[in-house]
Amino acid sequence: MNGLNLPVQYLKGVGPKKASLLKKLGIQTVKDALYYFPFQYEDRRNKKSIFDIKPGEIVGVEGHIVQINELKTKTNLSIIEAIISDATGYLKAKWFNQLYLKKILKEKQKIKLFGKAQIDWRGAYIEIVNPEYEIVENLNSQAQEILPIYRLTEGISQRQMQSIMQAAVEFSIPFIQEHLPEKILKKLSLPYLSEAIKYVHFPPKDADVKSLNEKSSQFHKRIIFDELFLLQLGILMMKQNRLAEKGISFKPEGKLLRNFLENLPFQLTTAQQKVIKEILQDMEKPVPMNRLLQGDVGSGKTVVAVAAMLAAIECGYQAALMAPTEILAEQHYINIYSMLKGLPVNVLIFTSTYNKHANLIASGDANLIIGTHALIQEDVHFKNLGFVVIDEQHRFGVIQRAILKKKGLNPDTLVMTATPIPRTMALTVYGDLDYSVLDELPQGRKPVLTKVIEPQNKKVVYKMIEEEVKSGGQVYVVYPLIEESEAMDLKSATQGYEGLQKLFPQYKVGLIHGKMPSKQREEIMKEFRSGRIHILVATTVIEVGVDVPNATLMIITHAERFGLAQLHQLRGRVGRGARPSKCILMPYKLTEEAKLRLKAIVNYSDGFKIAEEDMKIRGPGELFGVKQSGMPDLKVADLLRDQSVLDTARKEAEIILREDRTLNSYPRIKALLEEFWRNKVEIFMTA
Ligand code: ADP
Ligand code: MG
Repeated sequence: MNGLNLPVQYLKGVGPKKASLLKKLGIQTVKDALYYFPFQYEDRRNKKSIFDIKPGEIVGVEGHIVQINELKTKTNLSIIEAIISDATGYLKAKWFNQLYLKKILKEKQKIKLFGKAQIDWRGAYIEIVNPEYEIVENLNSQAQEILPIYRLTEGISQRQMQSIMQAAVEFSIPFIQEHLPEKILKKLSLPYLSEAIKYVHFPPKDADVKSLNEKSSQFHKRIIFDELFLLQLGILMMKQNRLAEKGISFKPEGKLLRNFLENLPFQLTTAQQKVIKEILQDMEKPVPMNRLLQGDVGSGKTVVAVAAMLAAIECGYQAALMAPTEILAEQHYINIYSMLKGLPVNVLIFTSTYNKHANLIASGDANLIIGTHALIQEDVHFKNLGFVVIDEQHRFGVIQRAILKKKGLNPDTLVMTATPIPRTMALTVYGDLDYSVLDELPQGRKPVLTKVIEPQNKKVVYKMIEEEVKSGGQVYVVYPLIEESEAMDLKSATQGYEGLQKLFPQYKVGLIHGKMPSKQREEIMKEFRSGRIHILVATTVIEVGVDVPNATLMIITHAERFGLAQLHQLRGRVGRGARPSKCILMPYKLTEEAKLRLKAIVNYSDGFKIAEEDMKIRGPGELFGVKQSGMPDLKVADLLRDQSVLDTARKEAEIILREDRTLNSYPRIKALLEEFWRNKVEIFMTA
């Protein structure tokens, strides 16, 4: 590897100045250069004879230089003009202000040109102005007909970049060591790494440009596979490490859980039963559980979490649930407290507002603790934390999860999310996790009827609000609130609140937002839950997890300002009881993209489907919070595009670890693995 770690400056044609420009592109070593791949390829094989060229075409031609002239424009620009001929005719190539070409171009040379053909001003010649060119005799390798195109930074031209890359590839080939066993390469029909690198930068004439541009050639796949293989190996090794750790084997008698289920006002769904069983089985194992529970908005994840926590509590341990917002923690507290009435469980809430009773956590008097980030403060200690639940886990970073776990005794962990992610990707993005899914909503849920109503028809909306409340329902009216325009947003929410209260003096209207003291916020949520507040004007503080089954109408003002995932979460606040619910979207300014978003939310209710639409509208980049997940950065692989390679990589990683769990017989893979996970892996080891 040594040669590859040399600074790029060692390469032919790279001086200190170029090196500092390359650094801007993230290229410092020769190896960085090798892994800086073209983002597209230009096909120059489409050579034309001069006779066939039509003005306006972008063409490649090959011919001999018959004459070179140096001219000047009226404005005193220099022009180098070359007359090129092939067997069918001749044309002119003109370069402005590139006098140095005088030294390069020679009569009788064979040359290739590439550029846009046009008719010269007299209408006599075909000419190409400032074409790209290659002098055929000068090329030590075969002439490049499929040109790699790299992303550039100011100060480096495409041509310079290509020649730097050529130098990098030529220099490195002898240093590139194969690390994958022959049998994997054979099985997956993948080329050697050195071949792949060379091919991806400088594909041969007969390459398939389409597959190159799609990054789906076997040569791209080889390199993508490498990266995903290291990713999967790392994740599986973490899992191996965890499984080698001693955790708690929870073997509850089961009475607590039975009593809890008997108390519930509803039957568990089949999916809930299945998932609870999966979790309990996993908890019984003497290794720390690490499980992701995914279920669409409203699928009933909370009950599942409580069931699991009770198993831990019955075995004499504490269980903690961490939620991303105060409102959500408060709501969980209220719900869970009432679900557990009469059972021997001491439920405690611990947030930045309710922070007086850390002593009860330390003493073990509280055994089911619900809280926010406040739980991971340094001075919060548990007596014997055996089970951890992270709700809406995408709101937390890896580190926060890790800190909470560290407060326990290798506790079992359940992380919950409503973000729909394909299974393999979930396993990848969230690391070493097992996976359960609630793929069923509680019975009797009717899809929320969703409609767009323009603000000029707001009378219709007022009528709907009135009828909903009259017939016993409750209403959310949501206003956007974003930091950049916080003051204004807050003002419009407040005005909306005042307006509605005037309009409906017979009803009680409430206002809730994240900027108010949490005591007040809690008071208002309590009143809304109890039905004393009929219409709740809210900012997005209610977005995540809030659960008031009697709320049956949601009005989202400025719906165009919300993202799809947010709209889906918001809408999930209604349709939680037996009454049919409605969601009204009121857009003000509609962009094309906003139109697509609203259309998707009107047409679909399934979170997976909506995520798919989101991906189509925004592209995969924004998705899944991969960046904040604490995983290594992927340089070449794209988790969405390369899903099938990801699957393959996981399988191969499993096979190789089954054969040698230490990887000691694969020292090259091991070294690469360490490099790939550097500065990341410790987090996971302690997590
Ligand atoms: P989420 O998965 O979005 O967190 P919750 O756990 O908040 O969903 O549950 C949504 C609502 O559904 C709650 O009011 C909860 O009491 C109710 N619920 C949960 N499971 C069932 C069920 N099996 N049958 C009926 N209602 C249920
Ligand atoms: Mg929830």
